[in-house]
Amino acid sequence: MEIKLLAFDSLGVRSQSTFIQTKDVIIHIDPAAALAPRRFGLPPHRIEIDKLHELAEVIADHLRDAELVIITHYHYDHHDPNRLIPIELYKGKEVYIKHPTEKINISQRIRASRFLKMIRQYARDIKVADNNVVVKGGTVIKFSEPVPHGVNDKLGYVIEVSLRSGEGSLVYTSDVEGPVLENQLRFIVNEKPELAIIDGPLTYMLGYRFSYDDLNKAIRNLKKIVSSGVKTIILDHHLVRDPDYVERISEVLDYARTFKVKVLTAAEYMGKPVNVLEVKRKELYGTEQK
Ligand SMILES: [Zn+2]
Ligand SMILES: [Zn+2]
Repeated sequence: MEIKLLAFDSLGVRSQSTFIQTKDVIIHIDPAAALAPRRFGLPPHRIEIDKLHELAEVIADHLRDAELVIITHYHYDHHDPNRLIPIELYKGKEVYIKHPTEKINISQRIRASRFLKMIRQYARDIKVADNNVVVKGGTVIKFSEPVPHGVNDKLGYVIEVSLRSGEGSLVYTSDVEGPVLENQLRFIVNEKPELAIIDGPLTYMLGYRFSYDDLNKAIRNLKKIVSSGVKTIILDHHLVRDPDYVERISEVLDYARTFKVKVLTAAEYMGKPVNVLEVKRKELYGTEQK
């Protein structure tokens, strides 16, 4: 099984675009990327925009080769309605999507309807992912029930994905922002994957959209994942938007060491430097003024 983490926050854009090739099937989860509209009161810097275009090209190149595409929810860093990724690339694909009208908030429902209209012209088959199981030869793809996008459902729901073949196993959590909630955690632990690709806690909003109590729950849950038999945990996306993310999860890192479980960002997993550009936004503008 070949796993490529194509675009992630640790690689400079908001995304968790993941490409997986097994003996049986080529899968692309969430072929999209976006930028923080505003950070430190500033719009995206030119360097971030260049990085977005660079990684969108990488995503598009892989989407072209994929047979099965999974859309876990309808935020622009997870689905792309022909903004940067040409919609024609859905031609001939089997697409599993988060249910477009059930367990979804209004904004995502509108986006889902628009996206569906677009891909219907190209996709070979479109199916609802929620609670579904797909078998392709020796590869089994299992989807979770819809779980809240974060600590509550204000931002809607996401689908977690589990993939297992004779070659290995993984879980992709999509935007759980923790995980803080019991049902988000349950799917991960029950699937017992070797690799867990997790959207870590939303600590860059600690004290307002994410409470200290939420952080404690996320740490407790991440420790449960560490001791569940996993070999490697990728913690990325919302977590690394916090410049102090390493300290925030130090308890998890210490715990993981005792279990010999690797915890790393997508960039580190891919052997690349961690480069969370939105955290450096002030700096990027500062350098330019000199
Ligand atoms: Zn999202
Ligand atoms: Zn996201």
